Amino acid sequence: MKFAPEKYTKRCPVCSLPAWIDCQGGSYDIDCACCGSFRLTDMAAALLPGKLNTGREVALASWFLRQNEGFIISLETISFLENVHPLSVAKRGIELLFVLALMFPDPGNFIPHTLLQVNPIFLRTRNVPRNDIYSGGNMTSKLLDPLKLLAISASQNEQELNWLVQVYLQELGYLRQKTDGYEITIDGWKAIEASDCS
Ligand SMILES: [Zn+2]
Repeated sequence: MKFAPEKYTKRCPVCSLPAWIDCQGGSYDIDCACCGSFRLTDMAAALLPGKLNTGREVALASWFLRQNEGFIISLETISFLENVHPLSVAKRGIELLFVLALMFPDPGNFIPHTLLQVNPIFLRTRNVPRNDIYSGGNMTSKLLDPLKLLAISASQNEQELNWLVQVYLQELGYLRQKTDGYEITIDGWKAIEASDCS
């Protein structure tokens, strides 16, 4: 996130999660706690409510924006968001592991379970009035940080994110459960070094 947590009071036009939005010169500069930084032109903004109609499409669009920091959504490029190829579970899992390794880069670092807990107040819904906003006074990094991992792993919700961590990455032996959290195993570090991400 580029700004202090209390600045994330608007709803991201792509994923509905908390975002900082600045409007100027016919476009919106957006920093979403989930999708990251991107720009949206006025014309594309008018079209967006009719696009991305399923949770899966929204999750893939958020993943795409995270992968393409600073992307400009315009009439010419809006189709990129609609046509993101579904990702394999393996790719989603290894990208999540890779980002956890960037956030916790030292051997034996403790990854707190709270980082993977998406607060229910953030359930994605685009069926809300467009002027509906979040209360900045309630925003904290602890609340907002897990939202980034939704986009990184192209997860629609906390259940998918938790499955990737608690089932996929643990059963592969890449993460080890500790009290109230996890650590990356030797096999996990080997997988990170061998992955294309590095
Ligand atoms: Zn977003």
